[in-house]
Order: sequence, then C-alpha cells, then structure tokens
Amino acid sequence: MAYKFVDNYREKGARKKLVAELRDVKKIEDKQVLDAIERVPRHFFFDETFWTQAYKDIAFPIGEGQTISQPYTVAYQTQLLHIHKGDKVLEIGTGSGYQTCILLELGATVYTIERQDKLFERAKLFLGKMGYQPNFFLGDGSRGIPEHAPYDKILVTAGAPFVPETLLKQLKIGGTCVIPVGDEKTQKMMTILRVSETDYERIELDTFRFVPLVGDQAW
Ligand code: SAM
Repeated sequence: MAYKFVDNYREKGARKKLVAELRDVKKIEDKQVLDAIERVPRHFFFDETFWTQAYKDIAFPIGEGQTISQPYTVAYQTQLLHIHKGDKVLEIGTGSGYQTCILLELGATVYTIERQDKLFERAKLFLGKMGYQPNFFLGDGSRGIPEHAPYDKILVTAGAPFVPETLLKQLKIGGTCVIPVGDEKTQKMMTILRVSETDYERIELDTFRFVPLVGDQAW
C-alpha cells in the first residue's frame, strides 16, 4: 500500500467540489461542519491508486471488512451532534480515523475506540502524521468507556441492533448520543438527548446502511 501525505491543488479542488455537493445537493447546512470537511484531506486515508475515489460521496473499503464512511454520513452525523469547542466526545468505531479528524477540527476533545487492532494501529499512525491528537482506545465500544465518562456527546459510527443503556448512562445531562439503530441491512439514525438522571428524548431520523456494531452490547 502506498499512502502519501501530500495535499496538492488537484485534491484541494476536488475537496471544494465535494463540499459544494454536500451543501447544495445533499443539503448539509452546518457551515462549521462543511468547513471542517474542507480542511481534512480525505485522500490521506486512501492508497494513492485510489485518490480519485477519495472525493466522491461514497463509502470505501479500508480493510478488515470495514469502510471509511461516506462523506454525507460523516457530515449528517456530525451536524446532529452540534459540537461546541471543548465538548468531550466519545466516538465508537474509529475506523480510518477520518470522522475523528472532523470532530477534532470542530474543537472537540475526542475519546475514540476501535475493536479491530489493525485499524486502531493504522488510525493512530495516520492521525499522528497529520498532527491530530485524540485519545485512542482499543476494545469493545458498545460498553462505552466508563472510566472517562461523562461525555457531552456520544457518536456511534456502526449499526446497532438496539441502543445500549450503558452508553446512555455515560452521557452528561443535556448531552446527546447519535446512533444508527436497526437490523443488519438498514438502520434509522437516532438522536437521544439526556434530559435528566432518568429521562431521555429520542428522535428517529433518516435511513442509513452501516457496517455492524459488534460487541457485548451489540451484534
Ligand atoms: N467513521 C469511520 C471512518 O470515517 O472511517 C468509519 C467507521 S466504520 C463505518 C465502523 C467501525 O466501527 C469499524 O472500524 C468497526 O471495526 C468498528 N466497530 C464495530 N463494532 C465496534 C465496537 N463494538 N467497538 C469499537 N469499534 C467497533
């Protein structure tokens, strides 16, 4: 595999076009999110042979049967989180680390967990080279990371069969969890706001197709 960390005018131009598509065609409205997407070189996560694919609005294989999420999905989930500078965010499913970079660009402090060791190692290496510094964890994120709870926001980037209660307990009151929930084929995006010690408000949104969340509190 040949990964190169070079961002030329051609890639910058392709990135601008992708952002325009997300804004004008796919109706992503949050300018902060769009600006973050414009700043992060998505082609860094691709072998150089596939750089032409990096700025298409598609998910793409990253090995180990997993994918780098479609830019629209990243934009959609991030927009729902309403990240403020300094928010403490738990991301479940580091994958390539691309979504992690977007959260960091928005000023979040990120705790990201991946269950597959090869992806975990690669994301650590790549994000380090790019100058990003989240807190990386290897393990089953379906249980969250209770040692570092509570979080302002929790983002799940794999499809869950149900909402793990243990995750919701790790939200601050006033905090939000964004999680795709459904069967192996399709999931509904859900936002869950913790309104009190015991109460949550759930909203069900659009349909997506994610790789499965695999773990103790999942598939
Ligand atoms: N947002 C990521 C990106 O931009 O590259 C893509 C994430 S990919 C769609 C989902 C990731 O969740 C995969 O890397 C998968 O290994 C991971 N995953 C699945 N179940 C998990 C679990 N229980 N804990 C941590 N990671 C998990």
